[in-house]
Amino acid sequence: MKEFNLDDVIRKVPDFPKPGILFYDITSIMMNPEAFKWVLDKMAEVFSSRNIGAVAAVESRGFIFAAPLAEKLGLPLILVRKAGKLPGETLKKSYELEYGEATIEIHKADIPVGKNVLIVDDLLATGGTLKAAADLLIEGGAEVTDVFSVIGLPFLNYSEVLKDFKITTFIDYD
Ligand code: 5GP
Repeated sequence: MKEFNLDDVIRKVPDFPKPGILFYDITSIMMNPEAFKWVLDKMAEVFSSRNIGAVAAVESRGFIFAAPLAEKLGLPLILVRKAGKLPGETLKKSYELEYGEATIEIHKADIPVGKNVLIVDDLLATGGTLKAAADLLIEGGAEVTDVFSVIGLPFLNYSEVLKDFKITTFIDYD
């Protein structure tokens, strides 16, 4: 596949959501159809050869990339949602954020027991969000083999937290 310079497209917003934080805004990828198509095509190319049985999408920006991928690969799509959104019986996990705590949930019945799962989000920072999602899927009986984010911030050490999984990102920032 032809390469594409994603850095030209990703909007960087200083001091968001707090002073001193540089926010990488992926809405600028969706505003550029060529960039969005490149990301989705590249995801399909990478993951079509990895024996994935289901895609799990992290609310909310992970949904944007996971849903088209699941459709392209003909795989089930599992939603990893913030607490209180799913109507059925769920597995739930709380985890630490840089400031405070978050809770995520997955429908118990949607967890594909024994299948290889790829978890998708937009950006990897500490890896805490994807690790919590992986823990829930594993608790429910799935195998988590792969995690993906469009953007990686490796200086926040996500590779240590996610060392049990194959990590894929398309662009990294120091
Ligand atoms: P982690 O759990 O890896 O520390 O943080 C990753 C989560 O925070 C992701 O769900 C991601 O959407 C969000 N996040 C943190 N910083 C940024 C950022 O600069 N840009 C975007 N788009 N998301 C961020």
